[in-house]
Amino acid sequence: MSRGLPYGVQQGGRHRGAARAWWVRGWLWWELAWAEFLYLLMPSECVLCGRDDAALCRDCARLLRRECATPYRAETSADALMTAEEQVLLPVVAAGEYRDALSAVVLAFKNHGRTQLGGSLGRCLAGGLAALPQLVPELASAELTLVPVPSTGTGWRRRGYDPVVLVLRSLEREGRLPAGMNICPALAIKIRVPWRRLNQKGLGRAARRRNVRNTMRLKRNLGSRFRPSANLSGALVVVVDDVLTTGSTVAEAAKTLEKSGATVCAAIVLAAARTPDQGSRQGSLQRREENI
Ligand SMILES: [Zn+2]
Repeated sequence: MSRGLPYGVQQGGRHRGAARAWWVRGWLWWELAWAEFLYLLMPSECVLCGRDDAALCRDCARLLRRECATPYRAETSADALMTAEEQVLLPVVAAGEYRDALSAVVLAFKNHGRTQLGGSLGRCLAGGLAALPQLVPELASAELTLVPVPSTGTGWRRRGYDPVVLVLRSLEREGRLPAGMNICPALAIKIRVPWRRLNQKGLGRAARRRNVRNTMRLKRNLGSRFRPSANLSGALVVVVDDVLTTGSTVAEAAKTLEKSGATVCAAIVLAAARTPDQGSRQGSLQRREENI
């Protein structure tokens, strides 16, 4: 299997000059100025080393980039995306492995309200997106629509934001979306009665699959903040999620999108838990449980 482009090496140069429009540069400047102003009022700590700095200090940002330097195909670790005969149902590209810096940053971003990390995670995802044509060769030169997996109602109420949408939004704002890709937040979570709302955390594989079945729907009015087509019929779709475990959520999102006439050809995640024989899982298991 071919490996992806090392993020920050081949792609880094292109991304650095990617903020084209004057208003994008202006926006980024104001955002940085605002962040620095807030830092003067409320100094922030790096989520990894605790140093008084930005939400992710320069050294730790470098560490995170290194962990996401080689995106890889991750579907074999997700049994909902493989048949019993080990055939791939849906290829998945992971920006990195769910451990060390990446897992800690994802966790702080998702569960501890550190929304400033959206930009850093957007850069990790951009590396995965840039490597998509090499890792899934069928997709080379195809126009792709990225559809984020929506946050559950409970998750949204608890956090006040949708993590995957926030990452994609920062990626688009910084001009890091590869050419030929659009973002379309077409999915929403169906409202469920409280006694049927179970948290995926702590559920077994079969229970996770049952718990997400028929939980998503297509949005009637797609937001105008993104550039895409409201009509997914005939579109080639890549599902975007944060952490891949059993793949049940990604599979459910793909099923819902295919009912609307879209062709779901792959998924991309920020981080994936590797297969047990690849080691280094022990440290990540606890965080993974907390994250899902
Ligand atoms: Zn740090």
